[in-house]
Amino acid sequence: MLKGILNVAHDLLEASIQKGETVIDATCGNGNDTLFLSQITGKSGHVLAFDIQDQAIKKTKQLLNENDRSNVTLIHDSHANISNYLAADEQVGGAIFNLGYLPRSDKSIITKGESTITALNTGLHHLKKDGLIVIVVYHGHDGGKQEKDSLLKHVAHLNQKAYTVLQHGFINQQNDPPFILAIQKK
Ligand code: SAH
Repeated sequence: MLKGILNVAHDLLEASIQKGETVIDATCGNGNDTLFLSQITGKSGHVLAFDIQDQAIKKTKQLLNENDRSNVTLIHDSHANISNYLAADEQVGGAIFNLGYLPRSDKSIITKGESTITALNTGLHHLKKDGLIVIVVYHGHDGGKQEKDSLLKHVAHLNQKAYTVLQHGFINQQNDPPFILAIQKK
């Protein structure tokens, strides 16, 4: 069976993140990725989870409490400011971005190309060797195409001596299905 996009995203992270590492959820949303990262990094690990919406921070906090997770720092700020929350020489084991808008919420609050790329570049700077940044690109909503286009252009031009860039998606699905970009640091 071919796995769905979100399962593939989690498999990629699980294969590259070690227990005890610091990792980033750049868009915590409803908290599913944050919970997953919290579990795979374990008690000795640390998750920094960002969102600009109060509702997302609250939802994620609730999910983490229900699952008794205590190794997460929730940060109500844009992921464009990730560098403010990491020491200059701090290494991260991996990161995930789930782009677009918060499901069942305000569809006008969306991730945007410029801040997504700023956050991606900061994440890549801090990423461990062989680590992965996984981006789930939702692009069917208003504003989604602009973000997708600028992001694809950016990652397609990352220096191949420094990074390997994978695109993974289902190409015969209707209605702009999400796809994965995974960037590995060499
Ligand atoms: N499209 C996905 C969910 C994406 S949620 C799905 O359908 O499952 C995306 C989250 O990113 C939202 O909660 C939104 O508030 C958040 N977000 C938008 N811009 C952001 C930014 N600059 N920094 C951090 N989070 C941001």
